[in-house]
Amino acid sequence: MFSTAVIHKFDTDQKAVAFTFDDGPHPVYTPQILDIFREAGAAAKATFFMVGSQIEQYPELARTVHGEGHEIGNHTYTHPYLSKLSAEEFAEEVIRTERLIQETIGVKPLTFRPPYFDYNEQAAEWISSRGYITAGAVNGEAMDWEQPGVAHIVEKTREKLSPGSVLLFHDGFGDRSQTVEAVRTLVTELAAEGYRLVTVSDLVRMSSSVRGE
Ligand SMILES: [Zn+2]
Repeated sequence: MFSTAVIHKFDTDQKAVAFTFDDGPHPVYTPQILDIFREAGAAAKATFFMVGSQIEQYPELARTVHGEGHEIGNHTYTHPYLSKLSAEEFAEEVIRTERLIQETIGVKPLTFRPPYFDYNEQAAEWISSRGYITAGAVNGEAMDWEQPGVAHIVEKTREKLSPGSVLLFHDGFGDRSQTVEAVRTLVTELAAEGYRLVTVSDLVRMSSSVRGE
């Protein structure tokens, strides 16, 4: 059974990890991430937690991401601090984005990530009851969104990574050139080590139980 937990790592014996990219689609950086995964081979997939307002601006990009076999998750419509919203406002953020994703790519999102991981129990229960898996990440210390340097992003991710891990990166809101370079390095290294690069929903299917917090 899946709980209301934010899941950072799925229990699986399989050598697989899920790269995730938040806050896009972005016209500069999302295509660069797509290139990296395309070059890694037909089986290499990622999950993009998209912001609804960004999808409205770049629907074609969202369709390209989906068309190349990647997963699109729900990351709200305006990227708010969810704990500051009423239950109704929170539901509106999620449902508006859910409908937008469905209209844009023809598929309803299965996975969710709260902006800033700012999330309370009531919100967690509601999102779980709606059928979503809420994705965390093991490599929060990499802090790619702060542009701490490519080496820092790579090292802090490698320190925490193991089979079943969800990895957090950003392709939207700001200069993500460090993230792109770090992801290029990590994808190359992990593929060489025999890791499969899969979506969050793939990890759900591979795991019998999950570890959250
Ligand atoms: Zn975000």
